[in-house]
Amino acid sequence: MASAPITAERVLDALRSVIDPAKGANVVALGLVSGLSIRDGVVSFAVEVAPQEARDKEPLRVACAAAVGKLAGVTKVNAVLTAATAGRQAPAPRPHAEPVAKADIAGVRTILAVASGKGGVGKSTTAVNIALGLAAEGKKVGLLDADVYGPSIPRMLGLEGRRADAEDKVLLPHEAFGIRAMSMGFLVPGDTPMVWRGPMVTSALQQMLRQVRWGELDVLVIDFPPGTGDAHLTLAQTVPITGAVIVSTPQDIALIDARKGVKMFEKVAVPVLGIVENMSYFLCPHCGERSEIFGHGGAKREAEATGAPFLGEIPLDVRIRETSDAGTPIVHSEPEGPQAQVYRQLARTVWAGLERALASSGGPTISIE
Ligand code: ADP
Repeated sequence: MASAPITAERVLDALRSVIDPAKGANVVALGLVSGLSIRDGVVSFAVEVAPQEARDKEPLRVACAAAVGKLAGVTKVNAVLTAATAGRQAPAPRPHAEPVAKADIAGVRTILAVASGKGGVGKSTTAVNIALGLAAEGKKVGLLDADVYGPSIPRMLGLEGRRADAEDKVLLPHEAFGIRAMSMGFLVPGDTPMVWRGPMVTSALQQMLRQVRWGELDVLVIDFPPGTGDAHLTLAQTVPITGAVIVSTPQDIALIDARKGVKMFEKVAVPVLGIVENMSYFLCPHCGERSEIFGHGGAKREAEATGAPFLGEIPLDVRIRETSDAGTPIVHSEPEGPQAQVYRQLARTVWAGLERALASSGGPTISIE
């Protein structure tokens, strides 16, 4: 489809529709836009803010990127806050740089983020079993453990203590139960205390994502770090995530955090495939009775409130915990059992969501450095 060429004037016109609420004027009139460059449909620019304002101005940058992204003919928007990282001693932003951040990962067809608003809700267990469920459906699956603070995927896949080999400076993932896995746990010994600054987390994750020989994958599952802080937002912004799943327990307190998770992905235009309720009910292994100890059903209500689909519920089950902690996840070790069936159904639902999200992502990618 032919469209008018993108000119600086058209971009600035679009940006004039973005009002800085703190100052009550548009970003162009306020002189906040600098370093505008346009090349082959790729528009790059910086939004200038004072360092102390960086955090508050993030929505403004997102609004600028979105306004320009809507222009016909724009394929990518590379918008940066010029003072956003300066205060944290990160490299100076490069508004003229090639938009590398949200570049596709060669050979990887879709990326699924598995996230939670807080730790301990069973996010990693769910990520591993969804990954194995997808593999059981015949998909080629990779699993990236992005929890650099407490990587648990090596243990859950029975790979604890293994080191990652490299070939020509490219890391080789480990294989377990038919899936390929990469984790910070393969790069540093498990007993090394890790103190990370935000930018270090980001660059470590980019390396584990992009400098790994994943090969051809139908889906790369990313086990996000728990929470919704800066590092999460950066990860959600800089990785071409096809869709995200939020794991929550039914308790109110976890659900409040789950809502933050949904909001975080929405903010960066990543489709939320839905919310999973983990430890939803207790199925007595002796009598088969179902007890709803945490007041089951909260995630479904929360999903309805946020407009995200509800993807299903996973029981609180001793075999799920034992197999996960022993490094033989239940979808692999007891594939015909009722728990594995729950995960396999979840994997099918998630795959359908990924395919839908992929099909509807024909529009411009908002790329943020
Ligand atoms: P997170 O990644 O959210 O921190 P984990 O996946 O590490 O959580 O799970 C925390 C603990 O809860 C682990 O011991 C795990 O085996 C257990 N767990 C997770 N999901 C379930 C479940 N559905 N039933 C029983 N135990 C579970």
